[in-house]
Amino acid sequence: MSNGQIVVSDLTKRYKNVTAVDHLSFVVEPGRVTGFLGPNGAGKTTTLRMILNLVTPTSGSATISGLRYSDAPEPLRLAGAILEASAAHKGRTARNHLRIVAAAAGLPDAQVDKMLELVGLTPAAKRKFRGYSLGMKQRLGIAQAMLGDPQVLILDEPANGLDPEGIRWMRGLLKGLAQQGRTVLVSSHLLSEMEVLADDVVIIAAGRLVTQGPVEQIVGGGTSAPRTRVRTPNLTELVTAVRTAGATIQPNGNDSHVITGLDAPAVGRLALQGGIELHELVNERPDLEHVFLELTQGKAAIR
Ligand code: ADP
Repeated sequence: MSNGQIVVSDLTKRYKNVTAVDHLSFVVEPGRVTGFLGPNGAGKTTTLRMILNLVTPTSGSATISGLRYSDAPEPLRLAGAILEASAAHKGRTARNHLRIVAAAAGLPDAQVDKMLELVGLTPAAKRKFRGYSLGMKQRLGIAQAMLGDPQVLILDEPANGLDPEGIRWMRGLLKGLAQQGRTVLVSSHLLSEMEVLADDVVIIAAGRLVTQGPVEQIVGGGTSAPRTRVRTPNLTELVTAVRTAGATIQPNGNDSHVITGLDAPAVGRLALQGGIELHELVNERPDLEHVFLELTQGKAAIR
């Protein structure tokens, strides 16, 4: 029975002058969206291509549900992938394009209509591909990747070229597919998008693993001091109390201030002890962007 795990073990890919992927190991779990993050040139596409056996590793291995993709008896049922916005014959309609792919894989036509519906392309199913926007091509790509009802979905930069509405739609779709128990692996350099989409992240730079784990843990595990945003009518008293406690406070615009070095409970306690009225008390979480920059510093050199 397929468990949907993607296991990357000590994977390396060397080209003539470049080590694109360098002894990389990580595991991607089913039932979750995993963001595969790294600066441009980090080795994301090469890794995804090795998982799908489109690029031969120099050493190491990658398996999906315990199988090398090329050994899968029914590859389209094991994993679907979009590595770039879909390409179809310009004069062909979306429905005909998918029917040809389905027929080649021994899948029924009914599956084509089901997937067009899933990605919201039913109204455009009979339009020719040449008139498709990039967003429609991305949707068609997902429909194609989903044709075999795969346990695992692998997408390389799927948000590229999508407008905000398209990105919101894609987020809902991918989260829904993960909730059904599927494995969803999405590469991106868009950190802000990954913070709202991904449950887990795998971060690489220069072909190597930087860190992996649940987004919450990685965002919360930064080395930076806690930051708390406050709003108070008793600013002078608060500034004194904060400085006495060894922390710093700076204006943050909009009448609010940010305290560095104390978390929200500590600031609340100080305010209570000093009889200081607070109108706002918020933990400022470091975002994935800050953590990412901190983690990849010096490793993101353009190669
Ligand atoms: P990412 O997807 O993270 O942007 P890539 O996997 O595309 O990174 O590329 C990683 C590195 O490997 C880059 O330096 C790139 O130039 C190099 N590379 C990728 N494919 C090839 C190839 N076919 N031949 C030579 N170098 C390559």
